[in-house]
Amino acid sequence: MDVAILGSTGSIGTNAIEVCLNQHYNVVALTCNSRADLLIEQYYQLRPKFLAVENELAYKKIKDELKFEDVVVLGKGGTIEIAKNYNYDVILNAIVGYAGLLPTYQAVKSSKRLAIANKESLVVYGEELMKIAKEYDTELIPVDSEHSAIFQCLQGNYHNEIEKILLTASGGAFRNLSMAEIAKKPAKDALKHPNWDMGNKITIDSATMMNKGLELIEAMRLFNVKADDIDIVIHPQSIVHSGIKFRDKSLICQLGTPDMKLPIQYALNFPNRYQNNCQDLDLCDIVNLEFFKPDFEKFPCLKIAKEVAKKGGFYPCIMNSANEYAVDLYLKGKIGFYDINKIIDKALDKGFNGDSSNIEDIINCSKEFSLKSVYEEDF
Ligand code: NAD
Ligand code: MG
Repeated sequence: MDVAILGSTGSIGTNAIEVCLNQHYNVVALTCNSRADLLIEQYYQLRPKFLAVENELAYKKIKDELKFEDVVVLGKGGTIEIAKNYNYDVILNAIVGYAGLLPTYQAVKSSKRLAIANKESLVVYGEELMKIAKEYDTELIPVDSEHSAIFQCLQGNYHNEIEKILLTASGGAFRNLSMAEIAKKPAKDALKHPNWDMGNKITIDSATMMNKGLELIEAMRLFNVKADDIDIVIHPQSIVHSGIKFRDKSLICQLGTPDMKLPIQYALNFPNRYQNNCQDLDLCDIVNLEFFKPDFEKFPCLKIAKEVAKKGGFYPCIMNSANEYAVDLYLKGKIGFYDINKIIDKALDKGFNGDSSNIEDIINCSKEFSLKSVYEEDF
């Protein structure tokens, strides 16, 4: 099987490489933004035919170091070219943030398989992406652990109506703190996730619970359900990865240790399940499995996302861009934890005019809400 990995130097990307090495897949393309040394290392390990590097300096470095190698190295815009090239059986989009949208937009037209970790593209343009995938007969398989769990629970059950989707959440790094304590926490503390080892952006999103908000919209798009059909449940152990309650009140969940290699491998191999080196889950070792209702006051980003999920239109795109803008400032120590939701609220109040089913309008909307001038008076 020929696999292309977009965002191969990230947390999902490096896990995907382990899966590909373990399964002896032929990796045909790797891409990244700026981590030149790691991409070069990955090149020598896998010998793909194509590399794409978005950052100019990193591109020059890689191009120079690999000048005697039999590989095509693309620069800015190369990631989209690779997605458009269709020289793969499966393409994994493991890019973080809105930057993943245009590659997804190309990959849904591939008539191949798109394993999608980049939840942001489904949040900002999901309804249309699902339609295009259907039109081009592209298989869209989720990689996000919760959505992989839901997808796994659906197998053999497509003819049955879903009563509720159970979307589990770890609760992030600050689950047990008071609002006053959380308000003072810097990004370095938010980056200490209790169960998962992930990229910086998603780890902050977990601490604010915006990650679950994005996942709510991701699930609505992937499984064609409404916001009210999804119950978010805090489950600190991250063992029950999510599930579906059917009309007969049977609740089917997928369980496993918190290891992204499992959903990545499932997305690549579906419907097959092969041996892997993920840690075994022994039910007798589990001391406690807890479930709680989320606290929308303590985590206002989750409340915002729920409202945005119901409103639709440009709101998910505005929320996503404002969140990326705010998370970046929080990571740089320029704003506090609860400024993130204030920035998002401010952006949502402004709104955006246009046609949200049009990709150009979505691109313009995202551009507008990535600009400092939109927020300048206050942040
Ligand atoms: P990460 O920050 O670790 O890696 C991101 C990758 O994207 C890197 O390879 C980087 O080079 C590339 N990238 C960044 N900006 C880019 C740009 N402008 N153009 C092209 N490439 C760019 O992120 P991650 O934690 O691996 O997350 C990737 C995606 O998967 C996110 O959408 C995240 O929400 C989702 N996800 C991640 C996890 C996890 O365990 N990390 C779990 C579920 C879902
Ligand atoms: Mg997830």
